[in-house]
Amino acid sequence: MSNHYDVIVIGAGPAGYVAAIRCAQLGMKTACVEKWLNKGDKPALGGTCLNVGCIPSKALLEATEFYHSAVHGFEDLGITCSDIKLDVPKMISRKDKIVAELTGGIEGLFKANGIDWLVGTGTVLADKKVRVTALDDTPSNYSANNIIIATGSVPIDLPITPLESDVVVDSSGALEWQSVPGKLCVIGAGIIGLELGSVWRRLGSEVVLLEAMDSFLPMVDAQVAKDAMRTFGKQGLDIRLSTRVTGSSVNGDKVTVRYQDSDGDHEMLVDKLIVAVGRRAYVHGVLSDEAGVELDERGLIHVNDSCETNVPGIYAIGDVVRGPMLAHKGSEEGVMVAERISGETSSVNYDVMPNVIYTHPEVAWVGKTEEQLKADGVDYQAGTFPFAASGRAKAKGDVGGLVKILRDKKTDRMLGAHIIGPSASELLGQSVLAMEFDATIEDIAHTIHAHPTLSEAMHEAALSADGRAIHIANRKRR
Ligand code: FAD
Ligand code: NAD
Repeated sequence: MSNHYDVIVIGAGPAGYVAAIRCAQLGMKTACVEKWLNKGDKPALGGTCLNVGCIPSKALLEATEFYHSAVHGFEDLGITCSDIKLDVPKMISRKDKIVAELTGGIEGLFKANGIDWLVGTGTVLADKKVRVTALDDTPSNYSANNIIIATGSVPIDLPITPLESDVVVDSSGALEWQSVPGKLCVIGAGIIGLELGSVWRRLGSEVVLLEAMDSFLPMVDAQVAKDAMRTFGKQGLDIRLSTRVTGSSVNGDKVTVRYQDSDGDHEMLVDKLIVAVGRRAYVHGVLSDEAGVELDERGLIHVNDSCETNVPGIYAIGDVVRGPMLAHKGSEEGVMVAERISGETSSVNYDVMPNVIYTHPEVAWVGKTEEQLKADGVDYQAGTFPFAASGRAKAKGDVGGLVKILRDKKTDRMLGAHIIGPSASELLGQSVLAMEFDATIEDIAHTIHAHPTLSEAMHEAALSADGRAIHIANRKRR
């Protein structure tokens, strides 16, 4: 095996492995360095997303949603379930099996595309050389015409609440419990707090989320965030805003959480604590001084819109650079960089980035919120449609939430779409496509939507933007 490559990718998460596959598709001799060790210390591809992120969390969200429906949701449908048993270890091992299948699938794709997986830790040296330190600490040097850094992110830890065995955990630890905690506290009512809080709440935990900020999901459209806060509260997620954790201590198999709110200092005794206060870029050991790659003031690798660092031929993508920490954002950057290296014109449309919180109901959005449009002084109009008026949502017995579409009053272009409700993640795709193709709201209004589908709510929201919705009373008529 020659030690010189057209491209060496460091990190095989959704940013890095997609970049490597696209480079290989374009005929470049490609290697990918990855150090991840899974359970049993088995090297694995797929990064955070496949091993401890998107996929395992969704496997548990799906399984627990079925359990919760069987226990609480089927009676209205005329189905009485009795003797329902919960087998948490089986649920966790199903999740592990899904992870193993998918990470093994990436390994298969690497082989099929002729990509060399260099198992170990990659460090960028001077002159586009990469040192790979194997798992047994043996170093080997490689060189490349181009290097793509995709080393991702890790959970932010709070020194005042140190992780401890399986009692005080980060998001990865909260995917491994073999039994349901009686009382669970989550620090941070962000995306991970809500998704993993939902998993354990559905299985019966009493869940308290302590959130330092005074607003709930500030990046979400305020109307949708308000609806979400109310709905999650009804489900038993006890979300406490303006609440700052000041410390924790483990006593045996319990943990005492200390926190402050407007009433003063408090303590809470819980069975488990999840620290979910955000993630930070991972650059530890990736860049030698002589590599000359600059970081920004937040410790992310500094890149331009094309993901080029300050060193020609060295790129960085995914969670390790600016922008939302989302798997699909990293993957698209991987494709863009691979195509640009091969001489093609390629870009990422950061303005049309889908976002989803996989709670029930799901929360999904793209583009601007009403608050952002107001702040920007844009002359916009909102069209909304509640799922309570959707025949399909009624048939499903899942009528909470709404679709909101925002349009530019002058151009009729879609500026944003915000959904809380059943299958919001899948429904969002239509709006993402519409925005990517610069569709007008009239285009959506003209598009025939199958009946009865949840997607009709999108159609009706578009119609309602200028008072033409059929299945709700409009505020104004054309
Ligand atoms: P990562 O996936 O973090 O991969 C980086 C890889 O680089 C790792 O495998 C690491 O081992 C490797 N690496 C680091 N340094 C080196 C080195 N020096 N040498 C060799 N290898 C190295 N995003 C979504 O879009 N949808 C979701 O539903 C979603 N759910 C999530 C749920 C949870 C619980 C978590 C924690 C995250 C979730 N995310 C989700 C975020 C998503 O996982 C990340 O945005 C995504 O994984 C980032 O991809 P990446 O390739 O940039 O980095
Ligand atoms: P987050 O930024 O979404 O939420 C962290 C929350 O913790 C914030 O609301 C913050 O105000 C709060 N916080 C910070 N310090 C605190 C303190 N000391 N006390 C109380 N609250 C505190 O981060 P996350 O939930 O850890 O998720 C990390 C990233 O992973 C997300 O930003 C997202 O990009 C990605 N992710 C995405 C998905 C998805 O796409 N469905 C799912 C999970 C994670």
